[in-house]
Amino acid sequence: MRAALPSPTESIALVAALFATGCAELSSPAPIPTLSIGVVDANVWTGDPERPLVEAIGVAGDRVAALGSSDAIRALATDAIIIDADGATVVPGFIDAHVHLLDAGHRLLADSTGDALLLDDDFWPVAPEPPPAYTPAEDDAALDAALAYLAERGVTSVHHMGSWSDLEALGRARDSGRLTVRVYAAVPLPTWRRLRDAIADGRFGGDDGRGDNWLRVGALKGVVDGTVETGTAALDRPYPDSADDRGLMLYDVDRLSAQVDAADAAELQVALHAVGSRANHLALNAYERVIAANGPRDRRFRIEHAQHLRPDDIARFAALDVIASMQPAGIGDTGPRLEAMVGSAALAEPFPVRSLLDTGAVVAFGTNWGFAPAGPILGLYGAVTRRPLEAFYRSSWTPSERITIARALNAYTIAGAYASFEDRIKGRLAIGQLADFAVLDLALLSVPLPDVRLASVVVTVTGGRIVYDAR
Ligand SMILES: [Zn+2]
Repeated sequence: MRAALPSPTESIALVAALFATGCAELSSPAPIPTLSIGVVDANVWTGDPERPLVEAIGVAGDRVAALGSSDAIRALATDAIIIDADGATVVPGFIDAHVHLLDAGHRLLADSTGDALLLDDDFWPVAPEPPPAYTPAEDDAALDAALAYLAERGVTSVHHMGSWSDLEALGRARDSGRLTVRVYAAVPLPTWRRLRDAIADGRFGGDDGRGDNWLRVGALKGVVDGTVETGTAALDRPYPDSADDRGLMLYDVDRLSAQVDAADAAELQVALHAVGSRANHLALNAYERVIAANGPRDRRFRIEHAQHLRPDDIARFAALDVIASMQPAGIGDTGPRLEAMVGSAALAEPFPVRSLLDTGAVVAFGTNWGFAPAGPILGLYGAVTRRPLEAFYRSSWTPSERITIARALNAYTIAGAYASFEDRIKGRLAIGQLADFAVLDLALLSVPLPDVRLASVVVTVTGGRIVYDAR
């Protein structure tokens, strides 16, 4: 009878072979790696289509060193910390593709409950760079609070939408070894020259001048419209109860295209905030123009929020290779509310996650934390149920846009890694990838979907280091 998982010796051989592949001159078998952490008796959802589920995972240094049976990992992990997951799920560390770390941290310090839904004032209608209101020491404390909060929720990487003064705080945290979450930091689009020049000057370090795998730059965030809640999302038809108010557009297409064009020509990534259908249409038009003008390149344009889309625009994301960076937490709560606010001005239902995925688009999940709650579990629940959090027995809102838990996990892991050009080193659990993962307290892939909301994180590991431990 054949065992489903390899025996310990087979696994050891496999690991040794994989370690040897990088060194062709090795004639003797590569040494068996000394594991520092072994997670056993788990359902490890690897995100790797070649090997989607394994029972155990081993870490050496900052990398995944072994995957296989619990016996195999135990045999390698004689001097390691052993985490018995007791049948629960282990996932690649969550990648939150849209946060405002400093805002979130300052709010956490001001209000220890911190999780309250706050008004989204996530745009700069006038000045792209608000003057810093905090001292460096206050920013450092806020950042530390935000990092600890994320680690508790299994988040191991974020895409931070912020300012140049935020970058100073992030740089200090990296240099002093205080980062426990990896950060891909975007700065405002109008400052593209400054970013280009800072990279050329080697200010961020790293082989390509864009930093290391703890803190990276290269993205610019532009703002096309506002938010539905403030009546500033740019729609195709007037808001209900208004004769001609179709929301706020901060750029005309020529001015926007010119900035995107310049940033793209400088080989920087552009992420445009677009909520309303008119704003999304304009952003896609700008991207289309720039792609035609500047030619093929691995540019990974993004649209942040992509909340209301014209039906004809949905397939353009995949056609133009534009990443939809969406925030699924609370779809079941805010979706119906937003629909009521935009009324017939909404040409498509908000948050068309499945429609986008079905056309082949990359959808990366995040939260807009700082202005919305941080937890990825809420996002997974929102994406798979589209039900209110507190009324989970209710029927789903727009059920045809629900997605499977595997697709939701993909959007929260590998898609985020792709959106920051880091899919070669993280976002899934395979040998040689960064050891970033979260141990949950339930079997996420087999519980009834409403129970997804009950999951919590037991241990978070970032770069082979336990950064949160609730055991
Ligand atoms: Zn935001």
